[in-house]
Amino acid sequence: MPILLHMDKIEKESLILKGEISLSDLNMESGDDLIKPAGPLAYDIVVKQDDESITMQGSLKMLLQCECSRCLQLFEHKINQKSWNCKISLKGEDSMEIIHGTADLTPYLREYTFLAFPQHPLCESGCVGINQVPTDSGNSPLSESSNEKLKNKNVWVELDKLNLD
Ligand SMILES: [Zn+2]
Repeated sequence: MPILLHMDKIEKESLILKGEISLSDLNMESGDDLIKPAGPLAYDIVVKQDDESITMQGSLKMLLQCECSRCLQLFEHKINQKSWNCKISLKGEDSMEIIHGTADLTPYLREYTFLAFPQHPLCESGCVGINQVPTDSGNSPLSESSNEKLKNKNVWVELDKLNLD
């Protein structure tokens, strides 16, 4: 299901929107042979309105099927944006499109999920490539979490760039 916002419902109070957008509704082309969306986009967000904008805050999750850019091994990567937020203007050039009192939030969620895609997918941060596959394929929780932090950092850098535009 696309994520639709009925404007009359949000006029007085914030709304909690929770659900999944299927891949066909998302219509997401990664543009990268190494990364394919492998599951619906799950969202759990709070939407608020003020005089000039709509603010969305919450979490976005999606499973990706990736191919390691060094050793070509297939692996799964989970996008898990826990404190995602986004502000959409209701006025001006880039304002949200509202048709018959309803706004489709799908494109915004799609865009921000896309920004969370890994830039160079790696099966593990220390992957040495196809010629020297390490015998120890241990996915230690430590390296995984530091990897995750790095990725999140990249996302914010990307978002900052967007805000400047
Ligand atoms: Zn690899």
